[in-house]
Amino acid sequence: MTPAAALAPWATAKAARLLQPPEPLRVPKRAHLADLLQALPWADEPETLVLPDAQLAAALLAQTSAAEAEPLRQAADRLRAALVGETVTYVINRNLNLSNHCVKHCSFCAFRRDPGTPGAYWLSRDVLQAKAADAHQRGATELCVQGGLNPEARLNGSLLAYAEALLADLLEAAPGVHLHAFSPQELLFMAEGDGLPLDGVLDRLQQAGLASVPGTAAEVLSEPLRRVLCPEKLSARSWVAVMLQVHARGLPATSTLMAGHIESAADRAAHLLTLLQLQRHAIERGQMGFTEFVLLPFVGQAAPAPLRQRVGRDQPDLQAMLQLTAVSRLLLGPWIRHHQPSWVKLGLAGATEALRWGADDLGGTLMEEHITTMAGASGGTNQDPAALEAAARSAGRPVRRRSTTYGPCP
Ligand code: SF4
Repeated sequence: MTPAAALAPWATAKAARLLQPPEPLRVPKRAHLADLLQALPWADEPETLVLPDAQLAAALLAQTSAAEAEPLRQAADRLRAALVGETVTYVINRNLNLSNHCVKHCSFCAFRRDPGTPGAYWLSRDVLQAKAADAHQRGATELCVQGGLNPEARLNGSLLAYAEALLADLLEAAPGVHLHAFSPQELLFMAEGDGLPLDGVLDRLQQAGLASVPGTAAEVLSEPLRRVLCPEKLSARSWVAVMLQVHARGLPATSTLMAGHIESAADRAAHLLTLLQLQRHAIERGQMGFTEFVLLPFVGQAAPAPLRQRVGRDQPDLQAMLQLTAVSRLLLGPWIRHHQPSWVKLGLAGATEALRWGADDLGGTLMEEHITTMAGASGGTNQDPAALEAAARSAGRPVRRRSTTYGPCP
């Protein structure tokens, strides 16, 4: 079955309307920052649920000079305080990167391997169950389950049956844990591989315990850019369609943006505006939609050479990513209320600094991480709850442990 055939026709049609194309920037390059900030729908009333327009988004995203940094930071920090208050949150979770066997070849990916080649791995269900039990014992309330697209991960010939059995194993080892699992690309891969409609895949995974979906594989939701970054992966339109179906089933999801490589301000604007369209669609229907926005700075150290050379930088530009953290907060406004920097990619000090630029969440303890670490990230793979709490307090902010969906800790 093709990806298109696995998607519900209503979702594909709606995705075409919600996906925002990158548009050339038409506002004057020297637009005054104060005027741009005042033009935001929530300039005077933070809870105003109106979407900003594309030109305003692109103009704000083009404010990248050092002179604009402090006013952007202050505006984002004020909006963060007005929308979610002072408290910094985090979750005790464990990351389970199942396998790096993958049939695709994204131009930014340092994680994927062909089976049998150096660095290739595929964790058995027993090993994953032991890791889940260990996480449960250490107080984890969430398991984040993702991996490469491994065509061999089948049970009785079925990718979906394998995934169902895996979720059951994890729940058996860690009763009551929240299963945050399978990106839109992984979900579509299962549907495609088993010749099933995506809705049937989601139905069975929910019955097996799937509780929310990571908003990864979005990279940048710009079709022209994806032809360079990930031409074999699901299209931006398909990502939007999968997310519409995920939201429609009552499953919450996270949202992400991979930034700091070859994307333009127009690409970033298209991406954030598409997330806003999806979130409005979900909220209008009483669905949970996106619980958070996670900025994922590109780490190029071990990335395939063509993209690494084009970017010309192995580690994220912290100042640029802080400025983007601020603008993301300003553009997503009351629609997506929680913003999480990545300590794996920025280091804990960088993520802590992002708390002054509009972020309000330090993510999870992770316990282990392979995808970004194999790309050369220097932030580490594990944080103790005490370290995350100390980081929040060092920023002068109170801190609380949260559930995956930002409720009280179970
Ligand atoms: S990003 Fe994901 S789909 Fe792309 S090559 Fe890497 S593991 Fe495979």
